[in-house]
Amino acid sequence: MRFFLTIIFIIIATPSFAVTFNGSFVQGSFILGKTDPGSKIFIDKKKIRVSKDGFFAFGLGRDRKNDVIIKINEKKIVKKVFKREYNIQRIDGLEEKKVTPPEEVYERIKRENKWIGEARAINTDLVFFKNKFINPLENAIVTGVYGSQRILNGKPKWPHYGIDFAAEEGTEIKAMLDGVVTLVEPDLFYTGGTLIFDHGHGISTLYMHMEKILVKKGQKVKQGDIIGTVGSTGRSTGAHLDVRLNWFNVRLDPATVLDIKN
Ligand SMILES: [Zn+2]
Repeated sequence: MRFFLTIIFIIIATPSFAVTFNGSFVQGSFILGKTDPGSKIFIDKKKIRVSKDGFFAFGLGRDRKNDVIIKINEKKIVKKVFKREYNIQRIDGLEEKKVTPPEEVYERIKRENKWIGEARAINTDLVFFKNKFINPLENAIVTGVYGSQRILNGKPKWPHYGIDFAAEEGTEIKAMLDGVVTLVEPDLFYTGGTLIFDHGHGISTLYMHMEKILVKKGQKVKQGDIIGTVGSTGRSTGAHLDVRLNWFNVRLDPATVLDIKN
């Protein structure tokens, strides 16, 4: 009888199951997972893609508080999300027109946000996201970080979801990862010359305030290719590059995939 139970125990306790997570469960993190090919995965009840070789990706938002519920086949994994502290800056006594955009551009902003939203919603089976990112500039001097927020005249502004790099106008920008160009816009209201790349499974990157754009929509770009140059287009106070990383509509911290010091 004992022998019999032991056999049953082994069968139940060792389903062929393995998972690894590359990335920390901290607000803003990009997380690359690997499991058995053919697995079914849900993140917080959202079914996500798994590549033929078992890779999957997801991320944690800036203000995420709840635990992450990961279901792989029938197994449930619960991960606690660690909080971060963000830099909050209050500036009062500003002229009102510096705080809110003029009403005549509202429609334009709405339209442009829709284009960006559509590019971020793209869900393909590309698997470029599983490779290591490289810095977009040769000298990556960080001047703005993810998560920081300004409160102007008591109004909380949209948090900063990117990494700003200081660079001179015209500095060449490299693609951080292989990808397919999904949006090319030379002059958006806020972000100026803007590029979006799809890296598969809902992972996208953005490049903003660009001067020249050297790629076309639908083009497959290799990591390290020159995609354009640094500018000061859109709402920008000087030449710099702002890059962003998303998992669908969740804005992630590019510092979690780049080789930079904060
Ligand atoms: Zn920025």
